[in-house]
Amino acid sequence: MGETVIPLADLRYAAPVPVIPALLTPASGLLADRLGRPLHDLRISVTDRCNFRCSYCMPKEVFDRDYVFLPQSSLLSFEEITRLARLFVAHGVHKLRLTGGEPLLRKHLEVLIGMLAELRTPDGQPLDLTLTTNGSVLARKAQALADAGLKRVTVSLDALDDAIFRRMNDVDFPVADVLRGIEAARAAGLGPIKVNMVVKRGTNDQEIVAMARHFRHSGIVLRFIEYMDVGASNGWRMDEVLPSAQVLQRLQAEWPLVPLSPSAPGETAERWRYADGGGEVGLISSVTQAFCSDCNRARLSTEGKLFMCLFASSGHDLRALLRSGRSDAEISAALGLLWAGRDDRYSELRSADAPSASSGERRVEMHYIGG
Ligand code: SAM
Ligand code: SF4
Ligand code: SF4
Repeated sequence: MGETVIPLADLRYAAPVPVIPALLTPASGLLADRLGRPLHDLRISVTDRCNFRCSYCMPKEVFDRDYVFLPQSSLLSFEEITRLARLFVAHGVHKLRLTGGEPLLRKHLEVLIGMLAELRTPDGQPLDLTLTTNGSVLARKAQALADAGLKRVTVSLDALDDAIFRRMNDVDFPVADVLRGIEAARAAGLGPIKVNMVVKRGTNDQEIVAMARHFRHSGIVLRFIEYMDVGASNGWRMDEVLPSAQVLQRLQAEWPLVPLSPSAPGETAERWRYADGGGEVGLISSVTQAFCSDCNRARLSTEGKLFMCLFASSGHDLRALLRSGRSDAEISAALGLLWAGRDDRYSELRSADAPSASSGERRVEMHYIGG
């Protein structure tokens, strides 16, 4: 009989343990990295699991029944997440986004939301607390999420056409259920709601105008996202990216659009409004127009590794600090040092280098680090 080998440590992504500086400088809320960028936004992945198998994120061939997801014991607990979030907020974070994997699959998520909703910025303001979801169980959960203190949601939806949508999620999930989820979120007051559509040329680009038509005059902001070369599993090719400029052309052929100025520094989407008052759309051009120069986001993985960039090949092991009994002052000082040393700007370097190239270096997967 073969032996079962239980690995002692998950070594899938190497992660140095952050250094605790000798001088424990208290958080000032005014951190800047080496390129002068503040820390404003923390994305927290609460699970690496998902009930969809979107080909651009968790292709079925890789994420099959043999794929080993993280064991429960390696996930950060709600208390650990909240403790870190509180320290980040003292350093200037104003926005928390829960993501995954599919965040709504994490058991008792509303308990975590309730804990995060109690945090306040140094000047006493509540945080912008939001969540990105595939919407599959939103119809059932929207009210409980709102009751727990969630402010708003972003729902990913790549097509309105049921056959195309089922092919893209690759688990035959019907579009009608996601649309019901969006309506439930609206009824629960989880707005303003955003809908994210990843555009893959030749797969769902024929849905651009139909999606825009559907969400015009709804108060929901539809955002088109360029298909990114994130991770190492999706077989990304430049010829499957439809540049945002072409998305815009297709929209403008139907409706006149007027550019809007960014609503917040570091905003990822270029915003436009329909001249006839039909509302707003966004274009997220991560591939063709890098926005690293004001990127103010940090990402916390499901098992507590801190990534300074979506394209980083390794994170910093905050869980090790939490579980080795370090004090708040020590962890906070380590966070300050990490952000101060940040110089990541992958997309800018890639555009300057060779726009069609995707580096061979191993990178973290989107479902693990969160979008
Ligand atoms: N499961 C949730 C969802 O789909 O909304 C949250 C996690 S998902 C990783 C977060 C976002 O990343 C989604 O909007 C998804 O469409 C986007 N995403 C995943 N892979 C991508 C890729 N290769 N290029 C662009 N966006 C991607
Ligand atoms: Fe799941 Fe979201 Fe990735 Fe699709 S994009 S596979 S829904 S984590
Ligand atoms: Fe931020 Fe990295 Fe994306 Fe640039 S490539 S915008 S630094 S996450």
